[in-house]
Amino acid sequence: MVKVDKSYGYVDDNLREIRSNIAEAAAKCGRDEKSIRIMAVTKTVAPEIVNHAVGAGIGLLGENRVQEFLSKQEIYDISAEVHFIGNLQTNKVKYIIEPMTMIQSVDSLKLAQEINRLAIAHNKVMNILCEVNIGKEASKGGIAPDETADLLERIAPLEGIRVKGLMTIPPPSDGDIFLGRMEELFNNIKDRNIEGVDMDELSMGMTHDYAEAIKHGSTIVRIGTGLFGARNYNF
Ligand SMILES: *Cc1c(COP(=O)(O)O)cnc(C)c1O
Repeated sequence: MVKVDKSYGYVDDNLREIRSNIAEAAAKCGRDEKSIRIMAVTKTVAPEIVNHAVGAGIGLLGENRVQEFLSKQEIYDISAEVHFIGNLQTNKVKYIIEPMTMIQSVDSLKLAQEINRLAIAHNKVMNILCEVNIGKEASKGGIAPDETADLLERIAPLEGIRVKGLMTIPPPSDGDIFLGRMEELFNNIKDRNIEGVDMDELSMGMTHDYAEAIKHGSTIVRIGTGLFGARNYNF
């Protein structure tokens, strides 16, 4: 667990600053700040602190690890929506199909098929984003940019899944170039009007680049350290 000031007041201060930066970035490019949601990325953060953020108005949580989520799930304030944003093995989908409302890290047909199978078994339609490896980095998950439209076309007919858009983690350096490429890819795919694919959400931007990401059309910014402070991996 992270060591924290019991009042967790620093979370409120950080959130105030993030909201003000988002408003400023949105105003600069003529966007409505309400079209941008803040996701609190919770990895390594104690559930009590996450709940404090929910109390302060964060309505969306992002989980990277199934095991960690399961250990915190019962303590979480249930008023927040939870999305999965990490590398997901097909054999772990069963743990998140019920409690989560979106899986943002879908990067293969095989994973989509397993989500589809379980969603149908649970009588639900799971929202997903396709994760794009926009920097084509060997170390990262995500589908190659030029294979993305094809994957979406294959996922679209699956009845237990609704495609809502794209997600990416751009390379840390030259981020702005890749944010721009991602915006272009998003708009290209949107223009194709693929049946069964809603291109409503573009999930990109983290603590170091969310203002830039907003300039490039992001609708969900995923913030960890900027909200909760530096991570302690001993969780
Ligand atoms: C950790 C993480 C974030 C948040 O990163 P920060 O730099 O701490 O804001 C966002 N997205 C994903 C997929 C992550 O794993």
